[in-house]
Amino acid sequence: MTNSAKFDTWIYPTKRGLYCAAGDFYIDPSQPVERAVITHGHSDHARAGHGRVLATPETIAIMQIRLGKTCAGALQSQGYGSVLQIGDADVSLHPAGHILGSAQILVRHRGQRAVVSGDYKRRFDPTCAPFEPVPADLFVTEATFGLPVFRHEPDASETAKLLEVQRASPGRTILIGVYGLGKCQRLILLLRQAGYDRPIWLHGALVAMCDLYQTLGIDLGPLAPVAAATSTLAGEIVLCPPSALADRWSRRLADPVTGFASGWMRVRARARQRGVELPLVISDHADWPELVTTIAETAAEEIWVTHGREDALVHQIGLMGRRGRALAMVGRDEEAE
Ligand SMILES: [Zn+2]
Ligand SMILES: [Zn+2]
Repeated sequence: MTNSAKFDTWIYPTKRGLYCAAGDFYIDPSQPVERAVITHGHSDHARAGHGRVLATPETIAIMQIRLGKTCAGALQSQGYGSVLQIGDADVSLHPAGHILGSAQILVRHRGQRAVVSGDYKRRFDPTCAPFEPVPADLFVTEATFGLPVFRHEPDASETAKLLEVQRASPGRTILIGVYGLGKCQRLILLLRQAGYDRPIWLHGALVAMCDLYQTLGIDLGPLAPVAAATSTLAGEIVLCPPSALADRWSRRLADPVTGFASGWMRVRARARQRGVELPLVISDHADWPELVTTIAETAAEEIWVTHGREDALVHQIGLMGRRGRALAMVGRDEEAE
């Protein structure tokens, strides 16, 4: 019997997502299920319609804003570190450093430890608790940027680049596309840390989530909705969803310099394709060195790779003397980080 089969008896991939048979629950299922444990609020992980949901308090607040107060039959929140017994499994949640409330799920069953990372990153993010390495026998990792070419730039140099363009373009609006949950709030705080204290202007679609972050204790400084502007916002920084970069909405702004904050901006062709003048490599996912470091730190003998560049990472895991397995999970959206 291989060691993989030993985990397979109580936790395994299904077409609805990763299933823990020991506790009869799914982790981040892609379809409605009776019981779900959710790693974080992004839409490819947190969906509506489950019977019962277990997640961090922040993830539940995010789900209620995005999916509605009654997005599940029952919503149960559990803070980092405390343990809940579900069937024959002990479940605890540990910071993943990806977005506010994001968690790795530790499931213990008969002396074995499985850690399901969800999405994660290792570099500092002022909007959420830092990733905590959790010792595991089985580690289930993402691999969005699982190729050796993916090495994200230091965040501070990307922010400095943005502020340099802003200072050099007083007659133009600096319009940056950001995902509304996580990236938006992180970019705002990176700008604050770089000393930018002017109001940051927001597309209407970004306002509710920024309000929630502030309610949950993340101070984003002065923000203002673009709808309330009485000028064309020349010289100002405006954030919008990526889809709004090229639409009619931006015509009200002063000859915008368009930027996009995403790990994918490391790929020049993607920036060109989107017509982005100011690509900012700011990612909420682990880059290649972070993936490799994390796999080493968990000390897991077996690593399953859920989504992204699975083949390269599985190969690397083999070189590290561990067993790797590509799960080829469906329903993960690597673009909408
Ligand atoms: Zn995510
Ligand atoms: Zn994801």
